[in-house]
Amino acid sequence: MTSPTRVLVLNSGSSSVKYQLLDMRDSSRLAVGLVERIGEQTSRLEHTCATSGETREQTGPIADHDAALKAVAEELSRDGVGLDSPELAAIGHRVVHGGMFFTEPTVIDEAVLTEIERLIPVAPLHNPANLTGIRTATALRPDLPQVAVFDTAFHTTMPESAARYAIDPKLADRHRIRRYGFHGTSHAYVSRRTARLLGKDPSEVNVIVLHLGNGASASAVAKGRCVDTSMGLTPLEGLVMGTRSGDLDPAVIFHLARVGGMSMDEIDSLLNKRSGLFGLCGDNDMREIRRRIDEGDDEAALAFDIYIHRLKKYIGAYFAVLGRVDAVAFTAGVGENAAPVREAAVAGLEPLGLAVDGGLNAVRGGGPRLISPPSARVAVAVVPTDEELEIATQTYELVGKKS
Ligand code: AMP
Repeated sequence: MTSPTRVLVLNSGSSSVKYQLLDMRDSSRLAVGLVERIGEQTSRLEHTCATSGETREQTGPIADHDAALKAVAEELSRDGVGLDSPELAAIGHRVVHGGMFFTEPTVIDEAVLTEIERLIPVAPLHNPANLTGIRTATALRPDLPQVAVFDTAFHTTMPESAARYAIDPKLADRHRIRRYGFHGTSHAYVSRRTARLLGKDPSEVNVIVLHLGNGASASAVAKGRCVDTSMGLTPLEGLVMGTRSGDLDPAVIFHLARVGGMSMDEIDSLLNKRSGLFGLCGDNDMREIRRRIDEGDDEAALAFDIYIHRLKKYIGAYFAVLGRVDAVAFTAGVGENAAPVREAAVAGLEPLGLAVDGGLNAVRGGGPRLISPPSARVAVAVVPTDEELEIATQTYELVGKKS
């Protein structure tokens, strides 16, 4: 029999499961879907058979992750690509926090599960949901390799000077406080894909990756290795995001508690869920913000300016960290689609060798592409991210090596 070539990628959130089934012979999608609002009366499953293009939708209560995954398995079976297929090589799980321990994709066993569980205090929202997804998938196919691909892994190459906060190292170590960084699979994929776009090997180029989605992070990648990134202990640090504040003086928190009378939970919720673009202007969708700016809305304009100012500071900082920069790559929802953000982020940075060609920047959609003029010293690129493909590739490589 020929070796199995399919990988199922699962991204389990607290009330949702996103999934893709890929054939690794050509990285093609066989099925794509999601189950959302798990545990509610209004759960919804949307499944697309990528080969036929047919989309099916189910609504109604799906009690838990176990029921969700069984429903997904049924949908896959209806398309003839069920979980019981001998062509399935492995299941790749997105795991948000791998701490310092997991520097690479890892085949999951009991010891790995225990370690992911031990990291729950630093990822209370994400790791429990990821664990539930792993346990449910393992129960469905106990014989199949289950692989964890960690959002933090790509950033474990950061030097201590970038990874540590300036606090007592013993206290920091006791509580596992350090800068871990997130969106690692995206930064890994986009930095490598950018190198390919330049016709170079990743080991030959230095890239600044700007992952601008609802969550947003920047990374400095030197010769294929991450040397700095903007998110820290949690995904709250760094850039202005859809609903997260990003960087602020930590004393703002003491001030809100002492003077504003807010509890820690209230401040946590404020900074994670009601800040960033949303906190500044009431909208977190860049399309809506641009529309409001076009209508002369000052609140939206200020939110945009603060977003861009922060982005520019990180671009400048990562020029200093890297010394030489070959490319700046924009990715994720905002980075891939919002030409005004790309234009504004680079405006005024010509002395650093950065420029955007208005015509190229205005082109919508499409694959990885350069938007800088050919004469520019530093390439500016739009590189659509593909975290599922990256998780599937890492999973397949690992399982291939072991078999
Ligand atoms: P992501 O988290 O990568 O899915 O990105 C989601 C965000 O991308 C949304 O909240 C929007 O702010 C932004 N976005 C998506 N499409 C567009 C678009 N066509 N123009 C501007 N922003 C967009």
